[in-house]
Amino acid sequence: MSTRKKRKVIAGNWKMNMTPSEAKELISGIYSRIKGKKGCDVVVCVPFVDIPVAAAATKGTIIKLGAQNVHFEQKGAYTGEISASMLKECGVQYVIVGHSERREYFGETDETVNKRAKAALEAGLNVIICVGEKLEEREAGITGEVVSRQTKLALQDIPVTMMQNVIIAYEPVWAIGTGKTASNEDADEVCGIIRAVVSGKYGKSVARGLVIQYGGSMNAKNCEGLLAMNNIDGGLIGGASLKPDDFAVIVNAAQ
Ligand code: PEP
Repeated sequence: MSTRKKRKVIAGNWKMNMTPSEAKELISGIYSRIKGKKGCDVVVCVPFVDIPVAAAATKGTIIKLGAQNVHFEQKGAYTGEISASMLKECGVQYVIVGHSERREYFGETDETVNKRAKAALEAGLNVIICVGEKLEEREAGITGEVVSRQTKLALQDIPVTMMQNVIIAYEPVWAIGTGKTASNEDADEVCGIIRAVVSGKYGKSVARGLVIQYGGSMNAKNCEGLLAMNNIDGGLIGGASLKPDDFAVIVNAAQ
């Protein structure tokens, strides 16, 4: 069981799901199930076009608004991209960077993850930086090496003063959307490795205060065990965040 006094953060990653009208309905479904729960932070990371509707629907609730990506430049000729200040002005408080789907399908690299994280933090957003090994890397016994490298590179030149706005999500790539979950112990061990990297760079107190989420097929059935682990301070939830009943069970487990 966790001994740290730290608020857990449960964040839903909706991916490319939900039109604006569906987003409104989903947020109201989630809110009606978790209203009054104040023991953890709850975030929904919605598609860009849902942001205005989601900002209105989350206003005055305990649900905070997140986006799923951000460009690293402030403005200019970057067709199709969205800047951190645009997100901020629309009421966004959190943004995911470096999700494995972005790394795999959209050419995201450790360098661009770092640039996005810095741009978002400089604009005053909270970032959820995703790291995680592929199946072949786990099988080759290099999980620790991979997540340590990704963590170090993602945090390059990020000053300690900004670390209070950083969350790291450990998401083993083989567990995302597959129904396969890391065991509680394996997930905890890797989150512990990430914490040690942060401790080496920023010191023990920053590392202790850092929220490290687990993500990868977390659901209503397995959330309790994962969230009880010492190094796991929340969850980044894909599929189950689209089901209000299941998402509410996860939020309850984090209270
Ligand atoms: C994710 O998209 O970050 C994720 C963890 O997805 P899922 O919960 O569906 O595995």
